[in-house]
Amino acid sequence: MNTNLDIIPINKWYKGLAEKPVIIAGPCSAETKEQVLQTAVEISKIPQVKIFRAGIWKPRTRPGSFEGVGTIGLKWLAKVKQKTKLLTAVEVATPEHVKICKQNPESVDILWIGARTTANPFSVQELADALKGLDIPVMIKNPINPDLSLWIGAIERVYNSGINKIAAIHRGFSPFEPTKLRNIPKWEIPIDLKLHFPKLDIINDPSHISGIKKYVSEIAQDALDLNMDGLMIETHINPEKALSDAKQQLKPEELAVLLERIKYRLAENKNPEFISNLEQFRYQIDSIDQQIIELLAHRMLVIEDIGAYKADNNVTIFQLKRWKKIISSRLQLAKDNNVDQNFMRKLLQLVHKESIRKQKNVLKLKNASK
Ligand code: PEP
Ligand code: MN
Repeated sequence: MNTNLDIIPINKWYKGLAEKPVIIAGPCSAETKEQVLQTAVEISKIPQVKIFRAGIWKPRTRPGSFEGVGTIGLKWLAKVKQKTKLLTAVEVATPEHVKICKQNPESVDILWIGARTTANPFSVQELADALKGLDIPVMIKNPINPDLSLWIGAIERVYNSGINKIAAIHRGFSPFEPTKLRNIPKWEIPIDLKLHFPKLDIINDPSHISGIKKYVSEIAQDALDLNMDGLMIETHINPEKALSDAKQQLKPEELAVLLERIKYRLAENKNPEFISNLEQFRYQIDSIDQQIIELLAHRMLVIEDIGAYKADNNVTIFQLKRWKKIISSRLQLAKDNNVDQNFMRKLLQLVHKESIRKQKNVLKLKNASK
């Protein structure tokens, strides 16, 4: 698989985007000319914000909800660009949307592909075909389901169409059961994406993860602490009256406070004392990991012996009583040592599964040699 895509980072897309994290803000949807312009003017007073977002074609889950103002919204975005220094971004979901944006270069600087679209490779391919020959940055939201391959696939399809200004947007994943958040962040997935495409910038969208205002700043802070490259935060001049996602949108002044309060940590610190201290911590962790692995290897050797011994004496591999005792004694030990119970339970299950696999192999070999 091609993991070395020659992706151009956000900082090099346009002048004015040199600083990280890149902050994108604007309403979920463009609703009226006044709403778009008033929101943009207020947002443009916040120095951290560089890109204005507004959906003009809205992929709503059910028909009958507000589906966006359509092409007329592009005129309002052109005005935003005239009146402020903000760059503009809109969502495209069909080749027709791409075509219309292409015909209105004075309105749109950046495109994004929404979560519902990313989940469908046919739609992504159609968009990719429509993007051929264009030199416009494209941001690709994660699919609604936690499937890293779909996300990677969408990025590859867009890249293969000749677009190299690409970033990803992490907006969380639909939960099966109601949770406090609208979408579960599952941070491990964007981290895996970064491991897969080291040059790819990832923007976090705390608004769609939160679903309500209250959690937006907390999620945004988590994202920056994980070294994400930017934030996309839904902001509306009058959120209570918003035609879509009313509960999660901030007022411009609330956004200003959030961006003021949030802690921007360094991905790197060249201070020699810090580096030397960090190395000492890492040395300890490396050494502990080595011991854990050696102990696990030792455990597996004993497991093979016990497997052989059980097989020779015609005893089953799994014994419920023993497994229950392992769980309760180890969980107690974990508790005594301040290790999280949930984590310990998962770890035990993993180790136990591997032990059973090993013992099954021993049994198979024994049976084969009979
Ligand atoms: C949006 O950004 O307004 C949107 C529709 O988001 P998502 O595709 O993440 O659901
Ligand atoms: Mn929205």
